[in-house]
Amino acid sequence: MREKKRIYLSSPTMHGDEQKYIKEAFDTNWIAPLGANVDGFEREMAEYLGVNHAAALVSGTAAIHLAVKLAGIKPGDIVLCSSLTFSATVNPVSYEGGIQVFIDSERHTWNMDPRALEKAFEKYPNCKCVIVANLYGTPAKLDEIRTICDAHNVVMIEDAAESLSATYKGRQTGTFGHLNVLSFNGNKLITTSGGGMLLSDDEEAIKKARFWATQARDPAPWYQHSEIGYNYRMSNIVAGIGRGQLLHLDEHRELKKAIYLRYKEGFKVLPVSMNPYSECSEPNFWLSCFTINKGVMPYVTLEKIHLVLEKENIESRPIWKPMHLQPVYASRDYVTLDGEDVGRDIFECGLCLPSDIKMTEEEQQYVIATIKSCF
Ligand SMILES: *Cc1c(COP(=O)(O)O)cnc(C)c1O
Repeated sequence: MREKKRIYLSSPTMHGDEQKYIKEAFDTNWIAPLGANVDGFEREMAEYLGVNHAAALVSGTAAIHLAVKLAGIKPGDIVLCSSLTFSATVNPVSYEGGIQVFIDSERHTWNMDPRALEKAFEKYPNCKCVIVANLYGTPAKLDEIRTICDAHNVVMIEDAAESLSATYKGRQTGTFGHLNVLSFNGNKLITTSGGGMLLSDDEEAIKKARFWATQARDPAPWYQHSEIGYNYRMSNIVAGIGRGQLLHLDEHRELKKAIYLRYKEGFKVLPVSMNPYSECSEPNFWLSCFTINKGVMPYVTLEKIHLVLEKENIESRPIWKPMHLQPVYASRDYVTLDGEDVGRDIFECGLCLPSDIKMTEEEQQYVIATIKSCF
């Protein structure tokens, strides 16, 4: 039996470089507001991705909120959204009074099905905005989706919170949308303890986002406001953590990939499939997941695997419950193809596996053996 140190899905991994940037902020007494680390983090991340402008914010959710505002969403406006994702992808639509219409996934990437999106445009020709997420670090069919958005003249928001450094047809995710969102929450590929970023080639959009994010102060000698603002800017300390983490982003991705490949090899003999991706994409493998083949489900349940792992102090988690199945969104429409519900299928058969990059190879082999013992 292993010594029961907890094995996590994905926890923060610091390297020491982060402290150098934080120390600099302390030494210059530039703790807040903004400052060199915020400017540096925005510039370095924008360069890494190949986007022209970036605004560092307190969270990915704040970035999505500002993106939804920039898209001009007003009460009653329809926004077509990925259904199989974390709630933060779609909640900000409600902050602005918009109405989500959820789009089903394709089995091929687990992400928004471009054909279902086309179908939704037939039903909702006046929709103004699409929000697409790259689930668990796997790119959606991003150029197809962008082409559809451009053809219908709507704003595409790409939620790349989980997919930083993944590529689609050789291009970074978080660059396909008109507006692009990253998160540096504690469990993401790199973390600032908490934070997010909005990126775009549209300089005016990013300027406006910075304006809203700093309480919407008019350029006047006193505090004057013509619009409602928010306190959404990232602090200079937090941005220092981000600059240090960015130096290790590629290394984190490589470690995540090795974890995914070991699971794939280890589960070859089991009636399960690893989370799939399109050949023209390179995921960041943020979380390794699998689905259990339906035929075995009555005998080996997700609940059983979860409990057996939990007994060994190993974390696992169900796939995101699709938004169209969430009580809070019960009144929303859901667009799917041929009466299928791919999102529900994946949710009912899928499990997220420990993908922590500090997990040793031996620990991972133990996780694999523990899961095998359930079959
Ligand atoms: C983490 C996450 C977010 C939210 O980011 P926060 O920084 O936690 O606000 C948004 N969308 C997806 C898909 C996420 O996984």
